[in-house]
Amino acid sequence: MAVHDIESPPPPGGPLVDTFGRVGDDLRVSVTDRCNFRCTYCMPAEGLQWVPKEQILTFEEITRVVGVFESLGVRSVKITGGEPTVRAELPTLIRMLRSASPDVEISMTTNGYLLDRLAGPLAEAGLHRVTVSCDSLLRHRFAEMTRRDALDRVMRGLRAADEAGLTPIKLNCVVIAGTNEDEVVDFARFVRETGYEVRFIEYMPLDAEQHWERAKVVPSADVIETIDRVFPLLAEGEGPEPASTFRFADGGAGAVGVIASVTEPFCDTCNRLRITAEGQFRACLFAMEETDLRTPLRDGARDEELARLIRGAVWSKWEGHKINHPDFRRPGRSMSMIGG
Ligand code: SAM
Ligand code: SF4
Repeated sequence: MAVHDIESPPPPGGPLVDTFGRVGDDLRVSVTDRCNFRCTYCMPAEGLQWVPKEQILTFEEITRVVGVFESLGVRSVKITGGEPTVRAELPTLIRMLRSASPDVEISMTTNGYLLDRLAGPLAEAGLHRVTVSCDSLLRHRFAEMTRRDALDRVMRGLRAADEAGLTPIKLNCVVIAGTNEDEVVDFARFVRETGYEVRFIEYMPLDAEQHWERAKVVPSADVIETIDRVFPLLAEGEGPEPASTFRFADGGAGAVGVIASVTEPFCDTCNRLRITAEGQFRACLFAMEETDLRTPLRDGARDEELARLIRGAVWSKWEGHKINHPDFRRPGRSMSMIGG
């Protein structure tokens, strides 16, 4: 199947495959473009226009679309945003998804701010696990990076998630040169104490203010080397995930992962698919093109028609984002508008 012929029609059945032979089976669903933080690497401090409410997919529409993706082989769904926990009645959506698609794993990426009260209801509704974003363990730096003085509250949220069984808990940490790269060993120490897995993400050119520059990217290889000098690491076998994962050689609790989107792009094995909060399908985080699923959904399209649109869009997925190529262009949307 790895014959790159975009003119040929997609296969009529089987998994969601593209012309490079990649199979899409992991779906990120953004449930809102709004957020209660303003992380410097993602959103501007103010002035971002929110998508009007009527354009945002309803819970019924999300549940239906996820069901179509499930029928096409998707096995895991990640709820994201914006900040997913600011969407009203989120546990209701999780309950609807769990009941309509019981075999799909449902996780969520969140800034953790509202988890102290939502972790229990979300777990009860059927959420399996959470990834919590946390870029600094220092109060003042956390406040600078997120533009919210909220580290204590996020730590409470993490404990609530642990108690509610939303495990294994992962932490997402965007590493930015000159900002927080001196904390990678502290994060490793933190996961050894808590048993969490920290995943260091390379800073990507998806910030709304367009302040990204190559010099601010800390290569994942450097992060691993720095930690390994203090806490020797052992690489785990390669999995389908874009993260490379390491355990501690002394058998200590916790794990360290790196997502080297910039220095070692993983486009050739990417299995991720995305729907924005307004129901636009994106076959790549950096895609320039989107496929509108909301209009056909609201015009009464049958599941087969939605499936045909999705199949066609996946089939025409490009080879990759070419971030390291002079022709690289940023997508029109920034991270919070796409759904990371
Ligand atoms: N609000 C939730 C959160 O922060 O976890 C979910 C949405 S957020 C867009 C998803 C992930 O994207 C977060 O872990 C965040 O740190 C990451 N992210 C945002 N902007 C990024 C950028 N420019 N480069 C790399 N990662 C980024
Ligand atoms: Fe909000 Fe998440 Fe973006 Fe931070 S990274 S501004 S928490 S959407």
